Amino acid sequence: MKLFKAILFSLTCFLPFLVFGNDSLSPTGEQCSSRWLNIDVNAQTAGFAAKRLCKPASWAIDQMDHCGFAIKEKLTVEVVEDLRHPFGIPVVGRSDSSEFSVQVASPSQCRQLAREEIALAQVEFHALYESIVVHEVIHAVFWQQRDHPKNESVSEIAGEYVAYAFQLLSLPEADRAKLLAGYPGAPPSDLGPFNSMALMLNPLRFATNAYRHLMSVDDRCEFLRKIISGEVEFDDWDQYE
Ligand SMILES: [Zn+2]
Repeated sequence: MKLFKAILFSLTCFLPFLVFGNDSLSPTGEQCSSRWLNIDVNAQTAGFAAKRLCKPASWAIDQMDHCGFAIKEKLTVEVVEDLRHPFGIPVVGRSDSSEFSVQVASPSQCRQLAREEIALAQVEFHALYESIVVHEVIHAVFWQQRDHPKNESVSEIAGEYVAYAFQLLSLPEADRAKLLAGYPGAPPSDLGPFNSMALMLNPLRFATNAYRHLMSVDDRCEFLRKIISGEVEFDDWDQYE
């Protein structure tokens, strides 16, 4: 079941946020000014300067740091040419908690994966690509915070909720509004809509729900603390087997 779950998350987590335009090639290896970030590029970045990844990565780190969840070691963000799940399935991002690193697929790979996602067609390409970096960096920071025995009860869905909410928050307002318009609705009143089945069936609905819900919470930092501590619980995958 773990195996299937891993595939599922690769598909549901990554496919929704990918629509890109054609750009020129400019491989680069520039470093961020932040002492907490290292950017490696082993891919054709298709006109997307590696240094631009510093901004979304730093933004994501700052969002968590603002709530008291600082990272404890340097995070590596790597752009790779052909990013795949161990089963061979192409994906757009990967967060490695053991190495504390993030990998993001090249823009061209992401564009191919997301070509058929109509709901994202109006979201500006660079903003979308940067938001994928945000999603993966949030994952990395989140997992590092819960890397403690007392936090074992925190589910993977909790990580997706946080990553998607901040991914949408990172989008320019106009792009976010277009995306939200495709999935109208009030903020969920509880965490019922956030489970593995919902993520599998409609990842963008899951993402917009996560954003609306987190934004509706009075004390966002306190809510994140409760998620990370396990005080706030999300549905577990096993309920849907
Ligand atoms: Zn994710």
